[in-house]
Amino acid sequence: MLQQTQVKTVIPYFKKFTKNFKTLKSLSRCSEQKILKLWEGLGYYRRARNLLATSKVLVSEYNSKLPKTIKEIKTLPGVGNYTASALLGLVHNQPTIAVDGNVKRVFSRIINKQESKINFDQFIETNKRKLFNSKRNSDFVEALMEFGALVCKPKDPKCGVCNLNQNCKYFNSLKKIKTTKYKMIESKNYDVFCYVNKKRQIALTKKNNLGFLNQFSLPEIRESRKNIRTRDWKFLKKYKNSISNKKLNINLYYKFSNKIPSSFIWHSMDQNKEFIPTFTKKIFRQVSTLF
Ligand code: SF4
Repeated sequence: MLQQTQVKTVIPYFKKFTKNFKTLKSLSRCSEQKILKLWEGLGYYRRARNLLATSKVLVSEYNSKLPKTIKEIKTLPGVGNYTASALLGLVHNQPTIAVDGNVKRVFSRIINKQESKINFDQFIETNKRKLFNSKRNSDFVEALMEFGALVCKPKDPKCGVCNLNQNCKYFNSLKKIKTTKYKMIESKNYDVFCYVNKKRQIALTKKNNLGFLNQFSLPEIRESRKNIRTRDWKFLKKYKNSISNKKLNINLYYKFSNKIPSSFIWHSMDQNKEFIPTFTKKIFRQVSTLF
């Protein structure tokens, strides 16, 4: 839940989630619609689906326990090297490090060497005696990530109060490395076409070929192209939206109509029991201004 999401946003979701699922088994028996409804508003919905799929594998194949080898953990749905390393350390207290952007920055500053010139696996292997010199590996994995986020921050690291400053080459060097800047994600333009009726309903389909937000209820959405035919549609608004790690510039069009293509279903813009992604809810808000 915390991927790209702030703690204060996650807390109510986490409480609701753990109240609904007291055990891994109860989670594994949940329907996808229910888990998506509980996740509604958090974004990155693939996480919810992967969590559900993973709970099923753990219950059926591992007696509801997390396996103890990185090879096995990496076979779980949605779990790559980073998550597997974090889980091994956090859950099984094994000497591993989850190397994210924060951790890379800390290591690169301590040795005052550009991130692009460091082989981090090799760096950890070479320094494992120094790095894993306590039995508190799970605290260490967590602390290292927090340290990068709170102390050795991308801008203005708090070197003056940092416990590592005596041994930090960045702090003690006159020629400091430049901190790696990660490229901003490019934004793309999309046209969204909404069928609307007088009952404050909007037609949604799960058959968009977008790649992201696949299988979710959306109006028709297409990547903007020059000379696209929009003459039957009225332009409503231009706005920005982010989904997962994508930035979208939306051109919103609408048309009052009682006829809709067969793959579309009318949805109320006011109340929905089924899961509706935040992206679609934003469209509801814009279209509501027509009434
Ligand atoms: S002294 Fe500064 S640069 Fe070095 S680890 Fe601490 S916060 Fe980071």
